[in-house]
Amino acid sequence: MIDERIVAALRSHVTEELHRADLGPCWVWTGCLCRNGYGQIHLANPRRKELTHRLAWETINGHPGTLHVCHKCDVPACCNPSHMFLGTPSDNLADMRSKGRSNRPRGEDIHCSKMSEEDVIAMRESYAKGETITVLSARYGVCFRTAKHTICGEYWTHVPGAVPLHNKR
Ligand SMILES: [Zn+2]
Repeated sequence: MIDERIVAALRSHVTEELHRADLGPCWVWTGCLCRNGYGQIHLANPRRKELTHRLAWETINGHPGTLHVCHKCDVPACCNPSHMFLGTPSDNLADMRSKGRSNRPRGEDIHCSKMSEEDVIAMRESYAKGETITVLSARYGVCFRTAKHTICGEYWTHVPGAVPLHNKR
């Protein structure tokens, strides 16, 4: 399942900006993020989304099976396989809790978040004034889905001003 195209896609969407002295650089996914802050990518089957950190792990170590690929660096969007370890789902949950991380990211806490809290408020105001999700996603450099969830408050739950979706475009 893992081939050169996937490796190339992973490479083209990561940045090494974050550096952890103890672990080395995080390869932070700069493409679309799922609601838990993990990078995601569409592969051959457009309906199926893959988590980029799992793909990165699989590329190096083989398929993780039913185990969770956890992050030592605590950066969900990180795709550096050397920052990951395998755990059971309950290990992963315990690990997240011990690090004080809920399973929902709080906006700017996601290191690679492309928007600030001010951007989120401005995006929601523009939508309420009649701008479309398509236009706003392009303006803020996020994918359509991220913009939609940001506007309706499924993402950035702690930022006020969420708007019910009246226009799905
Ligand atoms: Zn990392």
